[in-house]
Amino acid sequence: MNFGRLRQLAHLAAGFREFARTPLTRDQAVAIIRRQMAERETSFLENARRLIYDVPSNPYRQLLLWAGCSAGDLEASVRSHGLEKALEQLRDAGVKLSLDEFKSRAPICRRGLTIETRASDFDNPFLGGHRLEGTTSGSRGNSTRVAYDWEFITEESAHELLLYEMHGVLDAPTALWFPVPPGIAGLHNLLMNLKLGRTPAKWFSQTPTDAMTLEARLALRFIGRPRPEFADLAHADQVVAWLASVRPGVVRTFGSSAVRIAQAALETGADVRGSVLFAGGEPLTELRQRFIASAGLKVFPRYVATEAGLVAAACPECSTGEMHFYRDRLAVVEQDGSLLFTALTPHTGKIMLNTELGDCGELTSKPCRCPFGELGFDLHLSHVRSNEKLTIEGMTLLTAELQAVIEAVIGRPDCCQVWQTQDERGLNKLVIAVSPDVPDFEETRFVGAVLDHLRRGRPGSALAADVWQQAGTLQVVREQPQLSGGQKLPALRRNASAGR
Ligand SMILES: [Zn+2]
Repeated sequence: MNFGRLRQLAHLAAGFREFARTPLTRDQAVAIIRRQMAERETSFLENARRLIYDVPSNPYRQLLLWAGCSAGDLEASVRSHGLEKALEQLRDAGVKLSLDEFKSRAPICRRGLTIETRASDFDNPFLGGHRLEGTTSGSRGNSTRVAYDWEFITEESAHELLLYEMHGVLDAPTALWFPVPPGIAGLHNLLMNLKLGRTPAKWFSQTPTDAMTLEARLALRFIGRPRPEFADLAHADQVVAWLASVRPGVVRTFGSSAVRIAQAALETGADVRGSVLFAGGEPLTELRQRFIASAGLKVFPRYVATEAGLVAAACPECSTGEMHFYRDRLAVVEQDGSLLFTALTPHTGKIMLNTELGDCGELTSKPCRCPFGELGFDLHLSHVRSNEKLTIEGMTLLTAELQAVIEAVIGRPDCCQVWQTQDERGLNKLVIAVSPDVPDFEETRFVGAVLDHLRRGRPGSALAADVWQQAGTLQVVREQPQLSGGQKLPALRRNASAGR
């Protein structure tokens, strides 16, 4: 840790004291959302000016000017057609970023224009030294650093407050079941709860707490409560025992970990009826929701993206897999099923303008009687799924990245194929088909080598290796990879049978 970082941490510590000293009230929460709804066009234009047009090197600026859209043109378009229409026009003119472009894994190439970018080109320059940095628990390639600031988390807490309230658990004891840092999900959830004056009673961590860096350890000690306790995926019964002791309680966790809680409750016969699980980080399929409900638990999906923060969540009226899109914080338009996001708050860590986060989903407009509906969140997002990455047990990896690791282990290309499947509980497994003509192949050794390879990679992939090993996520079948559609390899084949 260098001096500069120490000084940043000191700033952060001072910011945290102020942040936690003044819990958000319901009136304030509603006021934040109402203001953001009223100002969404103005905020968008202000961000476009300050973060994009005023920064000559900004890639979005170059793209906008390439498309012939000056700051004045943009304002005129938004004022006359509305924000979403203006974004659609930009999208159609080529002003949008694929996930690879946003992650600087590929240059931005349009006709007559090539922009080489670095991941930091998309950072919000106004977060300065007061920001909180973290790595994603999952990962999307070479950029995993994300910054949050206190205003950003305060804005998010407003949505969380209403969410707790509408599910009737505003005062219920709450536990987190997320990995300790470097994964950001646990810290993010902790801070939002602290802003509401709801200190979680417990923080269970799927990863060992003694593996934390000194910096993370100091930060958690400074925050004070709760102290993370190690409870890996095989010990969901610890979470269940806690839930049974406080019934009804709330657990915030990944979708797959929520399934494990239900499984442990069914196995131990613990009475957890009426408790609520908020599940984010990966899609909550109908199969998973049904399984969790069979243990007497209520489960509601949330959609959170590391770069965008909170995106959507389900109210009690939402049907399975459906969520209210947080229109005050973000705008979304769709292209061939892919979701393109635009950040509206000036406090977001990454600048997003028609930016893909690698997810697909369906958008529908309809009224709802819940507080979100009353505040104007009439856009519903459903069937959200990843189109470029694998998320299993809350750990995200690019399909291409995993493919590369597997091929490196086998030592030759085009001899394997990866797809995702679900077991009878709705838990995702990763099936690796290895061509029968690969010689000297031994399954256990192969899986071990793939995990070791991932561990030597980025912090995100190392974390995924640990969690996937515990979960027995990787399964191997010997079969010929199938080529299709002109792709080199169809990397992901969904809903296939598990084989084996
Ligand atoms: Zn609703």
